[in-house]
Amino acid sequence: MDLKGRFRYIFFDADDTLWENERYFRAAEAKFTALLSAYASKERTQEVLALKQEDNIPLFGYGSKTYMTGMTDAAIEICGGSITEEIYYGIKEIITTLAFHELQIIDGVEEVLQKLQGHYILVAATKGDLTEQMGKFRKSGLAKYFHHCEVMENKDEKNYLELTAKHDIRPEELLMIGNSVKSDIAPVVNIGGHAIHVPHEVVWVHEMMDMPESDRIIEVKSIRDILEILL
Ligand SMILES: [Mg+2]
Repeated sequence: MDLKGRFRYIFFDADDTLWENERYFRAAEAKFTALLSAYASKERTQEVLALKQEDNIPLFGYGSKTYMTGMTDAAIEICGGSITEEIYYGIKEIITTLAFHELQIIDGVEEVLQKLQGHYILVAATKGDLTEQMGKFRKSGLAKYFHHCEVMENKDEKNYLELTAKHDIRPEELLMIGNSVKSDIAPVVNIGGHAIHVPHEVVWVHEMMDMPESDRIIEVKSIRDILEILL
């Protein structure tokens, strides 16, 4: 599909599209299962943690602080109603490391942004905790390529319609590029927009979804492949 000249804006997902993210959450999860290894198997801890995360996301949104609450809830359940000081501070330490890790920009991203800049208005569109996501955006060194960064509450149809209204574009003028089928692709094409899927090898269980059928979705192998579609 030729998308050249059809869009004024390009919206880019950030976590696992511009920079590595999910791998740090996996590392945190591995430390958490090790912390609770005297109480439960790795599989059981992973399962309880995933359930507690699903309970907490609607209440507190995405991000590492919600993950801390999920871990604490999971630990209390696994430890039979209460946790030791050691476990509580162990969780806090895991989350602190997670929240302040070095940002690793995904290969090809900077080159692509450099080439697209000037042809399109580039907007980073991420979801999660405002302080955390803006902090990563500033720290990434990529802010110079973007007009601004949108931190969305969630990435569903309603949020994408609000995004188009805010930028004074029609839904069909929305072009989203990202790694998550559930967050970056499906809701965008559902409202009539276009999406380019750039896969990442690590996908969070919460984000797993089959690719919908649509002629407004383009699947590429790596971020560099978007240049020949857009320039
Ligand atoms: Mg992502």
